[in-house]
Amino acid sequence: MKWYSTRDNDHYTDTKNAVIQGLAPDEGLYMPEEIPALRPSVLSSLSDLSLPEVSFEVAKQFFGADLSNADLQNVVENALDFPIPIVQMSETNRYTLELFHGPTLAFKDVGARFMARLLSHFMQFEKERVTVLVATSGDTGSAVAQGFLDVEGIDVVLLFPDGKVSSFQEKQLSTIGKNITALRVDGTFDDCQRMVKEAFIDEELQKQRRLTSANSINIARLLPQSFYYFHAIGQLGGNDENVIISVPSGNFGNLTAGLIAKKMGLNVSHFIASTNVNKIVPNYLQTGVFKPQPSKPTLSNAMDVGNPSNFERLMAIFGEKRDSMIEHVSGVSFTDSETIRMMGNYYEKHDYLLDPHGAVAAAGLEKVLGATSSFDGKGLFLECAHPAKFAETVEEATGVKAEVPDHVKDMFDREDVSIAMSNQYKDFKSFLLGG
Ligand SMILES: *Cc1c(COP(=O)(O)O)cnc(C)c1O
Repeated sequence: MKWYSTRDNDHYTDTKNAVIQGLAPDEGLYMPEEIPALRPSVLSSLSDLSLPEVSFEVAKQFFGADLSNADLQNVVENALDFPIPIVQMSETNRYTLELFHGPTLAFKDVGARFMARLLSHFMQFEKERVTVLVATSGDTGSAVAQGFLDVEGIDVVLLFPDGKVSSFQEKQLSTIGKNITALRVDGTFDDCQRMVKEAFIDEELQKQRRLTSANSINIARLLPQSFYYFHAIGQLGGNDENVIISVPSGNFGNLTAGLIAKKMGLNVSHFIASTNVNKIVPNYLQTGVFKPQPSKPTLSNAMDVGNPSNFERLMAIFGEKRDSMIEHVSGVSFTDSETIRMMGNYYEKHDYLLDPHGAVAAAGLEKVLGATSSFDGKGLFLECAHPAKFAETVEEATGVKAEVPDHVKDMFDREDVSIAMSNQYKDFKSFLLGG
C-alpha cells in the first residue's frame, strides 16, 4: 500500500515511512492511495469471526504487502487481546459497543497497541533502539505508553505535568516501569510539549538517540480503529442489518475509521458525529464553513478539540464535497448539563452507567432516533472510556460509584517509579543523553 498526503496528493510514501514519520513532510495527514474492498466472503460471515480474525482480514487489505500473514497475525492478536463486546440497552433497539476493556480503560488502547507492534516490526532489523517521546495531559499518554510496554526494541519517555493530571491518571502514568520512563515535569502540559518539540529539532541529540513520536494522526493508530466497526456489525447480526452508529468525537479519528470501514463494504446506514460544545464539525455540516475555535473545557474532556486534525481526512474521503458528507454523516452537539441528564436517564431506564463521552454519543443517538420515528433498524453508540475513569461525574449524575475493574486495580498498590524533572529543556536533554 502507498500513502498520500492530504495536502499534496502527488506526495506518496510507503507504509514503513508513513508509520515512522507519522505526519507527512508538508504537515498533511497520510491516507491510503485506495480504500480496498473487503472480500465478499468475509463481509457475509462477520458474525462467525472473532475480533482478531476480522481484524486480520481488514489489516491485510492495508498492510498485507508489507508484512507476512504470520507477522500480521501476530501484531493483530497481540494488540487486540481484550474483548470489545456489544451490550443491549434493556430490550430496546439501542446498543453500545464497549471499547474500554483494554489496559487503560479507553478505546485509544486499540490504536496505540497496534501501532506499537507495527513500529516494532519495522524496527526489528535496525540495530539501534528507538525512543518514543510523548507529552501528555493525561489519557493519550498512558494508552501509548501501555501500548509499548514490553515491546521489543523500543523505549518510551513520557512527560506529564506534575500535579495537573487526575490521581487515577497519575497512577496510570507513573507505575508502568520496565521500558517506560515517566517524567513528572515541574510545569504545565505546554512545557511538556515544548520540551518534546525541542528534542525533535535538536540535531546533536538526534545523533546519539533515535527519536520518534507516537502521534495520534499516525495511520497505524487510525486504521485499527476500523476493525471494531466490523466486529460490532458482526455481533449485531451481520452485514444485512440496518444500523446507524453514533460516534463521540473530538479529533474525529474514530469517525474517520468508521467511514473507512463503510467504504470497504461495511453496511452502516448512517453515522452520527456527536460532540460536546466544541462543535466545529457539526457547525461545518450545518453551514458549510469550517471554523476552528479555541477549545472550551467540558466534562467530556477527551473531546475538547477546537481544530479537529482529522477533518482533512474526512474531506479527502468525501472528495472535498460537503454534500456527500451530509449524505453519510449528521452532526449533533450537547452541553454538559445535557450530558449529565443523559447519564442519569440511561442509568434509570437501562441500569447502564455511561461515562461523559459515551453519554454524548448516546444523546446523539437518541436525538436522531427521536427525529426519525420510522427507523426500524438498530442504533449503536460507542462507549470509549470506562465510567470509573470519570467516577466523580458519574456519581454526580447517577448517585452511583463506578467500580474500577479488577484487571487495573493492582495499579493502586504498585510503586510510583516516575522521575522528577524541571521544565528546562537542558535538563531534559541531559537526561536523554544519560547524564
Ligand atoms: C479520544 C477520545 C474521544 C474522541 O475520539 P476522536 O477519535 O479524537 O474523535 C472520545 N472519547 C474518549 C473517551 C476519548 O478518549
